[in-house]
Amino acid sequence: LTPVDNKFEGVWRLSKLGVPIHSDPGKDFLGLSPGLLQEIAKVLEFPVASMLPQDAFSVVRKSFDARKMLKEPKFVYTVDMDVSKLLSLEPRTWDFISRLEPKLGLIEHMPNERASGDLISIIHDSKKNPKDIVTTENGHNNYSGSEQSYKCPTIKKTKIAVVGSGPSGLFASLVLAELGADVTLIERGQAVEQRGRDIGALVVRRILQLESNFCFGEGGAGTWSDGKLVTRIGRNSGSVQAVMKTLVHFGAPKNILIDGKPHLGTDRLIPLLRNFRQHLQGLGVTIKFGTRVDDLLVEDGHVVGVRVADSRDKLQFNSQKLGYDGVVLAVGHSARDIYQMLLSHNMVLVPKDFAVGLRIEHPQELINRIQYSALATEVYKGRGKVPVADYKVVNYINGEDGGPSSNSGATGRNCYSFCMCPGGQVVLTSTNPSELCVNGMSFSRRASKWANAALVATVSTKDFETLGCHGPLAGVEFQMEFERKAAIMGGGNFVVPVQTVTDFMENRLSVTSVPPSSYRLGVKAANLHELFPIHITEALQHSISTFDKELPGFITSEALLHGVETRTSSPIQIPRNADTYESTLLKGLYPVGEGAGYAGGIVSAAVDGMFAGFAVARNFNLLDSCI
Ligand code: FAD
Repeated sequence: LTPVDNKFEGVWRLSKLGVPIHSDPGKDFLGLSPGLLQEIAKVLEFPVASMLPQDAFSVVRKSFDARKMLKEPKFVYTVDMDVSKLLSLEPRTWDFISRLEPKLGLIEHMPNERASGDLISIIHDSKKNPKDIVTTENGHNNYSGSEQSYKCPTIKKTKIAVVGSGPSGLFASLVLAELGADVTLIERGQAVEQRGRDIGALVVRRILQLESNFCFGEGGAGTWSDGKLVTRIGRNSGSVQAVMKTLVHFGAPKNILIDGKPHLGTDRLIPLLRNFRQHLQGLGVTIKFGTRVDDLLVEDGHVVGVRVADSRDKLQFNSQKLGYDGVVLAVGHSARDIYQMLLSHNMVLVPKDFAVGLRIEHPQELINRIQYSALATEVYKGRGKVPVADYKVVNYINGEDGGPSSNSGATGRNCYSFCMCPGGQVVLTSTNPSELCVNGMSFSRRASKWANAALVATVSTKDFETLGCHGPLAGVEFQMEFERKAAIMGGGNFVVPVQTVTDFMENRLSVTSVPPSSYRLGVKAANLHELFPIHITEALQHSISTFDKELPGFITSEALLHGVETRTSSPIQIPRNADTYESTLLKGLYPVGEGAGYAGGIVSAAVDGMFAGFAVARNFNLLDSCI
């Protein structure tokens, strides 16, 4: 074997390199520590770790593994190795690598990667060198691939309205504005500065602004959140990487590119969104905050604009008609009025399965102890060597393991934890005072003394019908039913009904005083069995006892269940063409993101918005013209 052998050129990936906790500098160090070099040398069967050329290696991923079956908790790394840099080693050292390959199969030869970077540089590079830059989910090219030179059109620019400034709307706006469209971003909520004051007034003085709250406003539902950037759509895919690098461009710390479970926290999201806004404005995007879209203007089956109103003007005295060539609908899943409006245009909305349940909160120290045992002291309010502990639990109810019987409505459901916020707090995500629902948020250090997570069970059309909810918005009615019940059980004023986990398991009211909660607007003891139909309650009960086996101590009188968690994902999907992203019924309308049923979470919503941006650009031939 020689260094010029093709097989040993390029970048090779070393995966699952475990560095014991005592040899690692800790969660915040993302470089090559002596402990990691030692591990690399071991895998390569290279005798002297310190002789390895350090510039040959770059850390791609770092996560913490404290599973009980391990002898010792460890940090687990993925490292890329640039083989050309190893040329500085003596040729005989190549033997080590050649011996390793067939034996361990640990090394993956990385294919030549296409241009990668943040979205802005990808688009800018494409101007210099036309080629297919980003493909749609279906693998169709978004760029025409023609080698024609760019020419500035003298005709007027394509006017696009993007409705909603959540992750999907922001990324769609970014792509379209970078590609030369005349974009207007319309947001019913307020910019983060005013939104922060409105959320403050809610938490301190119980004043819920209907249009500026935890769901509505700049950055969308995920701004006052934990800012988890984990996604099920393939962490290493080019599209997810482009989104993550774009977040870094706007001020997110670089470690989100490497951390196995990246998260930002509200304090980092707010300045990031300000930078995002300034960039969009620099590209000429008109941003209308406090402006709600109330209707679509439709002519001959084509959307030609929107009717908007000042969102603080409830009676819509100042409604205005605005004309656009295309409308991207990125409104999230709390914009129930938009669903109604779409039905008034005879749009088809397809009911979708989702999940409902409760938010559980434990003392964070308890979760640290359950997950890390003696190592729990290393957490140290988010400043320690190991990350603040989280968990993820899933249980499928099959009716066979001593749980609900097979003819019970509880079987055939998945119960799982969702949106876990270590070191966080439970927050109110209602958009209407007569409904009550909760979620969780945290700051970047995750330093609060609480750990909360949703515990939810899947529900489908059959459940909606059992409750008398029919038609395209059956899922929405189903959500509202429990949100109203929770508001009544709390006694009003956004007080949340709660029950200790032990009492929930025993189906008894928590009569003695309930443990404290991070929820700022007050809690009231209630029997949460009165909230959901019995089969959902049984499914949750049974799953909690299963989770306690996996996480011993999970069932404790120190843990408090909060009602109700209903807005886990969209209850409907708005049909659209898979390639053009255009509504199958209304031309010129592009439903995107979570509210349209195509995403779940910050990153997947951003990716969907990005793809939609390219699809719209292609439909209006923006990819062929001067940018
Ligand atoms: P949204 O973010 O919901 O944005 C839609 C926007 O449209 C909103 O700003 C809304 O005001 C606006 N809008 C609605 N109707 C109109 C109208 N008629 N006119 C004008 N504007 C309108 N996900 C994660 O991945 N990680 C997390 O840690 C996480 N934590 C969360 C914590 C909380 C408290 C909440 C509520 C959600 C959390 N999520 C989290 C979920 C995540 O926020 C969403 O999945 C994501 O924001 C969806 O993006 P989107 O762009 O599709 O919609």
